[in-house]
Amino acid sequence: MSKLIFVANRLPVTISREDAGLSFAPSIGGLATGLGSVHSAENSLWIGWCGLGGGELSEAETAELERRLPQEYASVPVFLSDQEMQLYYYGFCNRTIWPLFHYFNHYAVYDHGEWECYREVNHKFFRRVAEVVDEEDTVWIHDYQLMLLPALIREKFPKVKIGYFLHIPFPSYEIFRLLPWRKEILEGMLGADLIGFHAYDYVRHFLSSVRRLLGYEHNLGYINIRRRLVKADVFPMGIDYQRYQEAHLQPAVREQIREITEKIKGTRLVLSVDRLDYTKGIPERIKAFSRFLDDYPAYREKVTMAMIVAPSRTEVEAYHELLREIQELVGFTNGEHGTIGWVPVWFFYRSFDFNHLTALYSVADVMLVTPLRDGMNLVAKEYIATRVDQKGMLVISETAGAASELGEAVIVNAGNTREVAEGIKTALEMKDEEKIERNRHMLKRLAHYNVEFWAQDFLRRLGGVEEVQRINLSQRLDPAAVQRLLRQADQARRRLFLLDYDTSLMGFANKQAGGRPTRELHQLLQRLAADQHNEVLIVSGRDRAELERWFDDLPVHLAASHGLWLRTAGEQWESTEMVAEDWKGTMRPLLELHTSRTPGATIEEKDHSLAWHYHRCEPELAAVRVSELKDTLEDLTSNLNIGLVYGSQVIEIKDTRINKGQAAAVWLAKKDWDFIFAVGDDWTDEDFFTILPESAYSVKVGLGASHAHFRVESVEQVRHLLKQLVVASSREKSQSRSSGKAGKAVNHD
Ligand code: UDP
Repeated sequence: MSKLIFVANRLPVTISREDAGLSFAPSIGGLATGLGSVHSAENSLWIGWCGLGGGELSEAETAELERRLPQEYASVPVFLSDQEMQLYYYGFCNRTIWPLFHYFNHYAVYDHGEWECYREVNHKFFRRVAEVVDEEDTVWIHDYQLMLLPALIREKFPKVKIGYFLHIPFPSYEIFRLLPWRKEILEGMLGADLIGFHAYDYVRHFLSSVRRLLGYEHNLGYINIRRRLVKADVFPMGIDYQRYQEAHLQPAVREQIREITEKIKGTRLVLSVDRLDYTKGIPERIKAFSRFLDDYPAYREKVTMAMIVAPSRTEVEAYHELLREIQELVGFTNGEHGTIGWVPVWFFYRSFDFNHLTALYSVADVMLVTPLRDGMNLVAKEYIATRVDQKGMLVISETAGAASELGEAVIVNAGNTREVAEGIKTALEMKDEEKIERNRHMLKRLAHYNVEFWAQDFLRRLGGVEEVQRINLSQRLDPAAVQRLLRQADQARRRLFLLDYDTSLMGFANKQAGGRPTRELHQLLQRLAADQHNEVLIVSGRDRAELERWFDDLPVHLAASHGLWLRTAGEQWESTEMVAEDWKGTMRPLLELHTSRTPGATIEEKDHSLAWHYHRCEPELAAVRVSELKDTLEDLTSNLNIGLVYGSQVIEIKDTRINKGQAAAVWLAKKDWDFIFAVGDDWTDEDFFTILPESAYSVKVGLGASHAHFRVESVEQVRHLLKQLVVASSREKSQSRSSGKAGKAVNHD
């Protein structure tokens, strides 16, 4: 039976030392709760750090953890030494990745020793995984502490299904590129089949970094990395909705609600709950509350802010300074605004348990969640779910991941003190009916996309990615299929080769360098076409002049301008259609305008078409321009026989009556072919893939949707295949030599 293995920095068990020895309790918190039901229901294991430093554990205790955790909690502990904790956890994780990914790049430290330790600890986790994983298992890795682990597993266990979820933001490329080890991090993550993020912006940033740093293109979130497809997608993590909805029914919570209501009688409550972290915007929030009291003095003595700050990462220097700053600001605000009998800010520097927290959620009129950056922020969701009368209102900053799902809340910019102060006032003054209406929508969403659903959704989609990969891989031209193809070619006497040129026979780099075929390709085509049983048709979007210059000396047939012009070897060009070109006058100025606004773009005027090339452009800008062009051109061309063709890094405007399929059809009709081989790589080639008979060997170069029956990964593979085809038919070579088909000698540089 296959297993589901979770790997996270921490285990879902809290281990503490008591007089009687080690004691274990299930952890409560987003991840442990969310995965809890899947973890207990399935044949699953959880691998993570046990939570105790190396120096704290005796040999006997280590042995006890090794024995009891698998039995009692289906967990496998990873042990970290004190030095590893310092360098890996407090070091690289929390002094480099955490600040950088939250846009606090001025706090980020780039220490080679810490990076090395991060790599070693990822290997340490890998060794634990390797002890238990089987090829048919699924591994789900969590968060920024383990970004290298997916690739480590992929390398040794290529068939394992791997999911990776990042619980913090993925920053924009401009920030991410600052990381000295950025490529290693991306390559590490790309070991997964599915990479999940909380918000779409993070997906966008990730895809953009992958494209710019590693050169991998993506299509609908599928990243094409050589032999595999990797999917990046959004899965906004939910909460244990039921638990928060029912919190107020617990006697202990009811008692606390009663006590708090009694204490705050006469004043309204604004609540703020965070871990101590500079990303949470705590000082800015205190300033905004102070500003609110300044701007609206009528609220003095009428509103109190309860601010809970749970201690966190006390070993990192930046957090000490932050705590000092918060304490000063609280003191300052209370000193400035407080009166006898009224303290404006109640400050608690400690962690509150579930009962205490949900009691506060239940009575708070306003929940103030204004992080400067936050991957998700669960507190915001917990508040809405707990306040069952729906008469509270959330004020949330747009830089919290949760804001994208909670659009009915009062949304503010965390750094804009006046805006946050206004937000507090708006929320306090909002009518009950409006609050109920707004909360109703948000509650519905939270109830549906709860944490369990989130986990199930991720795992379901991980299976889906495997399906897409399987379809793509099943079409791979494997050695057995190659043997069949060669056998069939060998037996055939009337063979047709339909060959797309750019990025099928020659690589993309060659296209950028002008496109001329190499001597090697030239010779290969010559040998292929020299066989009297072969007819070779090169089908290209390029114009007649170029094809003629490159292939005139070969006995190959040519189809130029996507099939508008056809030339049988050694004869004159013939046009397949007579088409008007007056539309070019309207389109050209439009393309020129876009070209001048897009550095690197070029216009190519061909017979009966205009092409806009963007392979030398900055990719993000090109993507925007392509979308703009598409909108405008589709509007302008809707009444004409003019259409857009999306090639590889090129948009072409042309008469839709002309396509590569039309040219191929002319040749298909010429003979009763007993072997047809067609190769292409982009959308324009689909036109001939679709009209080929079932028996044809149609081959797409690369992954992605296609009508071709087979796939190969590269131009090199296409050429290798053609070489094999030449060799396969070499038995007849002696006859073909005397047929006079061989072309003139050529001198290529
Ligand atoms: N939390 C808690 N006690 C506290 C403060 C926070 O139990 O005193 C919990 C809170 O209920 C929430 C989590 O800690 O589930 C904080 O998650 P969030 O996503 O808001 O922020 P993070 O700490 O992950 O950055």
